[in-house]
Amino acid sequence: PTDINTLADEYLRLAYHGLRAKDKNFNATLQTDFDSTIGNINVISQDIGRVLLNLITNALYVVEEKRKSGIGNYNPTVSISTRKTNNTVEIEVSDNGNGIPKAIIDKIFQPFFTTKPTGQGTGLGLSLSYDIVKAHGGELKVKTEEGNRSTFIIQIPVS
Ligand code: ADP
Ligand code: MG
Repeated sequence: PTDINTLADEYLRLAYHGLRAKDKNFNATLQTDFDSTIGNINVISQDIGRVLLNLITNALYVVEEKRKSGIGNYNPTVSISTRKTNNTVEIEVSDNGNGIPKAIIDKIFQPFFTTKPTGQGTGLGLSLSYDIVKAHGGELKVKTEEGNRSTFIIQIPVS
């Protein structure tokens, strides 16, 4: 039994402070909106934790790249929200980076697909995340607004 809100909050802060410790210029606004009615759900918490960390790391990376590109009036932001429906718990990780071009959206879940410079990405994060969520009987989905935003949605069935 795992408190998914606490898990998401801890990994968001861990990733953020890890990046700030390495680079004092790194900065991003973190937003959370947790559904407090979720309670504990049955997942392999290490695995779902890894999915969260992959999605959060990707999101922080893109907003930092956009910040460093020096466009004016940009407020790098990564948001996590959770919600419970009748039979699922959904966790959304969203960023106001550059979105994902249509030309690559079908490839991002493939193993070893990366657009990061050599040495910076393995291209395994989303592929592994997809497999972990599937192994929980769930779905990992993506929505994007090209040039503006990406949102990854983890849907986990609950009884
Ligand atoms: P890696 O992070 O090592 O590149 P991933 O499997 O985590 O591998 O991601 C694969 C690719 O998907 C990334 O290289 C990037 O092109 C794209 N991607 C993933 N997350 C985002 C995001 N939040 N915004 C834009 N592109 C993304
Ligand atoms: Mg990654």
